[in-house]
Amino acid sequence: MAGRGNPLHSSADRRLWLKSVIIPSLVILLLFLGSGWWAIRSLQSFYYGQCLEEAALTADGYSKAISLALDAHRLFEEALTGTLETAVAIIDSYPTPLDNETLSSLKDRLHVDVVYHYDPSLTVTSSSDGTYIGWRVPAPHPIRTFAESGASYAVEELREDTESGTPYRYALHRRDDGSIIQVGIKADGTYEAYEDFALQHIIDELSLRNPHISLALVDQANQISAATEGTPIASIFEHLEVAVPTDMKGYRRLKVAQTSYLAFRLPITVNDQDSGSLVVLFDPSKLDYLIKAIAVTITLVLLLFFIFFLHSFWTVHRLNRRILHAANQDELTGLGNLRLFNETIRGMKGTDCALMVINPLNFKQLNMLYGYAHGDEVLIKLATYLAALACSHEGWEAFRLSDDRFLFLLTGALTQGELGEVARSIIADSPALGLVSRPALAIGIAEKRFDEPRETPLLTRALIALNSTGGANPVQFYTIDLESRLIGDNAIEELLKRAIDGEAGIVTLAFQPIVECASGRIVAYEALARLTDDEKRTVSPELFIPIAERHQLITGLGTLLFPMALTLLERFKEQGITDVRLAINVSALQLMDDTFVNFVRSYLSTRSIDGRAIVLELTESAFAYEEDGLTQRFMLLRSLGIGLSIDDFGSGYSSLSRLRALPFDILKLGRPFIQEIEQAAHAHFVRDIISMAHHINKRVVAEGVETEAQRTLLSALGCDLLQGYLLGRPLGLEEVLEQHESGGGHA
Ligand code: C2E
Ligand code: MG
Ligand code: MG
Repeated sequence: MAGRGNPLHSSADRRLWLKSVIIPSLVILLLFLGSGWWAIRSLQSFYYGQCLEEAALTADGYSKAISLALDAHRLFEEALTGTLETAVAIIDSYPTPLDNETLSSLKDRLHVDVVYHYDPSLTVTSSSDGTYIGWRVPAPHPIRTFAESGASYAVEELREDTESGTPYRYALHRRDDGSIIQVGIKADGTYEAYEDFALQHIIDELSLRNPHISLALVDQANQISAATEGTPIASIFEHLEVAVPTDMKGYRRLKVAQTSYLAFRLPITVNDQDSGSLVVLFDPSKLDYLIKAIAVTITLVLLLFFIFFLHSFWTVHRLNRRILHAANQDELTGLGNLRLFNETIRGMKGTDCALMVINPLNFKQLNMLYGYAHGDEVLIKLATYLAALACSHEGWEAFRLSDDRFLFLLTGALTQGELGEVARSIIADSPALGLVSRPALAIGIAEKRFDEPRETPLLTRALIALNSTGGANPVQFYTIDLESRLIGDNAIEELLKRAIDGEAGIVTLAFQPIVECASGRIVAYEALARLTDDEKRTVSPELFIPIAERHQLITGLGTLLFPMALTLLERFKEQGITDVRLAINVSALQLMDDTFVNFVRSYLSTRSIDGRAIVLELTESAFAYEEDGLTQRFMLLRSLGIGLSIDDFGSGYSSLSRLRALPFDILKLGRPFIQEIEQAAHAHFVRDIISMAHHINKRVVAEGVETEAQRTLLSALGCDLLQGYLLGRPLGLEEVLEQHESGGGHA
């Protein structure tokens, strides 16, 4: 319920979250991504390596094929040109005129297909088959080009016959008389077989077998002698020059016209001679697609792994957090506990902060009166209130220390004035939480400046401050003096414990007379507790009564003092004095103890003392309790004949109208009123109180009367009874008895 206890809200837990979830997740994500990248790179280089190997094998195979082709080509060429040359030489040896029959018989004998003879004007004069006679070579024409070149012999490249379109290889010879002999061999099947050995043909064949590669044969002069048709290999040749040197064993990735290629360049040797190089262009688009597909699959698998890992990690973390939360959280209120508080403090660096220890007053009584379930409800309400208050300010946090103690941590630079205001506003809001005392809370505050060491015992200091709070002073800041006083408090606590355990001489009583104003007769004695320490120094009840209350020793002390006080009445009875009453101070905590009324009743009966001889004095702090319970107790005590007086009236917050409903008898006006009484305004005020008290049938005692003037004034104002040093100081039992024996029943 109380949200500020949630561990995730504290800065320490945000750091824990970062350390235990964010950083490991990022590291693992990086590991996954790194290994994915590595796998893809390995795959890529493996596949590219395979390509290189394939290219190397291809180049090797090609070297052999190309070597054979080159050889065959050379032999064929030699045989062809040899036949043509021989035929031309033999025909040339025949004298002019060369008629058709001669040419026809020479054609057959020389194993050529056609023989023509042109006169110097380039007109056919005779032919082996009798065709073309009289045909004149047009311009332009290869024969005319030859004739004009002045050369005596030439072998043409394969070309189609001008008229018939049949492919021929021709040899041309200029005879001495200027005429020209033309010998031709038809490009028939044999010739085509020869063509099969041409480089371009081989490259085309090879390229056909593997459509993903383009090949280029580069000669020693760095000219492309043959290349796969329709590929950009020629256009990237310049790139290859720069990027792929011949001696390179690896590959290069080249980009031409938005397309990527893998380029290999491998040397080719023919008959142990360097014969240029083979350039292989590999189109990796399919391979890249495959690699991309594998990469996506690997990434998806890794991502799935990562998600699965994150899920498991998150589950474990949530479990841990729940365990941590349970360890750091108070079960009842849902606030962070002391462990979380300590962790929060440890995690704070160099900031101003303040700690409040908030303690409901008289919480034990609340538990006793209304039950523990109700007490728990009140604690939960208070925790919810503090959590909501903490939520409304950045850097404020609420914790439950233990039982009925809460911690409120405020980070940031706040002045004592501001802190006091926060504390007072908490107290002001507390009545709505079901706390019965007024004030309902005591708050101890300790501050720590940013430059103070981290080990500054903030909590101890706040507890020391809390220890020094009191009814009229519910908010206390820590001071070093408080700490030294606490050491003294501990000594007093020890003394009180020893006294309660039965050690005599530590706690005693002094009796101060209360005198009737009109007659000056002592009508009562007030029993005042005295504490003597081991060095025989007396400790004021103003000091040790609050300590006894804080340490739950007041009931024990009351149990010790009550019978001690009754001794005065017994001794008076022995002396025959029966008209003097005994006023006994009772702490509110004592009164609210369920056993108190029975305790008083049993003592009165065992000591045979009439209840009417007793007046119980209660300070206003008793009225912080819920009215019904208080009225009930007053009625029970009254039924025993016991008188009740309200002590130190005016020091607390009660008004006469609030007291009106309570069945008490006497109102004791506190000393501060009496000290100022000689001032007219105060005198009027005291007069009004007295008349109001009389109006509701209460008698008034003026406390701390020290001067004759005060007595006269009080008497004039109609005060009923007086108490003070003027009328008698507190005396020991024996001294009081002595005084009475010597006839002192008057002040
Ligand atoms: P109280 O009940 O109001 O007692 C009166 C206090 O005023 C006593 O102080 C008394 O010595 C002092 N006093 C009386 N006349 C004068 C005077 O003329 N001038 C001055 N300056 N003081 C005067 P004491 O004995 O120090 O007690 C202080 C308070 O401690 C008491 O105030 C009472 O509230 C509490 N107390 C004393 N004994 C007991 C006890 O046995 N039980 C409880 N619960 N409280 C006690
Ligand atoms: Mg008193
Ligand atoms: Mg008093």
